[in-house]
Amino acid sequence: MSLEAHLKRLITSQGAISVARFMHEALAHPEYGYYQQQQPFGKEGDFITAPEISQMFGEMIGLWCTSMWQKMDTPHEIALIELGPGRGTLMTDLLRGTKHVKGFHQALSIHMVESSVKLTALQQETLKHYKNITWHSRLEEVPEKRFLLIANEFFDALPIQQYIKTAKGWCESMVGMNDEGQLSFAHLPSLAHEHLHTYHNNAPEGAIVETCPAAHSVMEHIAERAKLHGGGGLLIDYGYNSPPYQSSLQAVKAHRYHPMFENIGEADITAHVDFQALATSLKDIPYQLTTQGEFLESMGIHTRKEQLLHHALPKQRTDIESAYKRLVEPEQMGELFKVLMFMRW
Ligand code: SAH
Repeated sequence: MSLEAHLKRLITSQGAISVARFMHEALAHPEYGYYQQQQPFGKEGDFITAPEISQMFGEMIGLWCTSMWQKMDTPHEIALIELGPGRGTLMTDLLRGTKHVKGFHQALSIHMVESSVKLTALQQETLKHYKNITWHSRLEEVPEKRFLLIANEFFDALPIQQYIKTAKGWCESMVGMNDEGQLSFAHLPSLAHEHLHTYHNNAPEGAIVETCPAAHSVMEHIAERAKLHGGGGLLIDYGYNSPPYQSSLQAVKAHRYHPMFENIGEADITAHVDFQALATSLKDIPYQLTTQGEFLESMGIHTRKEQLLHHALPKQRTDIESAYKRLVEPEQMGELFKVLMFMRW
């Protein structure tokens, strides 16, 4: 059976499903889900993430981790948690880049949180030379202790709910079936939703609001851990600081946008991350919001690029320059990708 047939059966038996349920089935279904099936990353895959563009990305995150560790007074024991590690590239670059920092690796116990069986196997292969790494399918399984947490393009994979303001009031955007029996979006009246009335009362007609209950619960869990044990986090994703009032739900296959309801399970589906909502879930934990470009420059990516250029062959030089530009320039990833950092001692 295909994912499409599975979804149609679900809708026939219980009515239209939420966008969140649709995203969850398309990405995480144990048999047909995108992350269980595909090799999403890299040139041959469906999209390229920052760690796959250049080693400099993971190295800068490594520098952030060591500087936080030093600010914490170099504790002898700390958990380094990565959410959604993909191919394990970021962690590999981070560990290689920090191996000369005295005492840092000895202090680390590394915890990879990955829900895909296939990607877990790939990460285990990539990182087989490192000790002290354990894998978990949920953050809740990671032992409770002081931590540093990193996540790149993790939150954009979490299922969102969508609401739309119509002439008749707020509706929820759901996935149902049209008269031809094809999957399609349907706007169904939503129960008066407190969040919509509190935060989006002045939204114009046609405005679409997206919420991500899964991101909210992950953030609340992280905030609770930080309060109990101390910890810092660095979250990077494609996202916005104030709601754009339009749909950000998108499917991508082989580096191109793909129709949402075609070949479900074969295209990646993401939504942009609402950074203000993530920050709000941190409650009273101090945080800072910035852009990927500013973050990487503040960690010294320019100097690192110059160092790499110094040792590079002419062909490699062009690659290094273009990777650098892709990561930091505002019209490339520099501004669209946002960074949320927090720290609780
Ligand atoms: N951080 C990587 C990969 C980003 S893609 C990079 O930058 O290249 C998203 C990753 O999150 C994948 O590894 C996917 O399998 C994982 N993932 C998605 N939803 C998850 C969930 N609910 N729990 C744990 N991992 C999840």
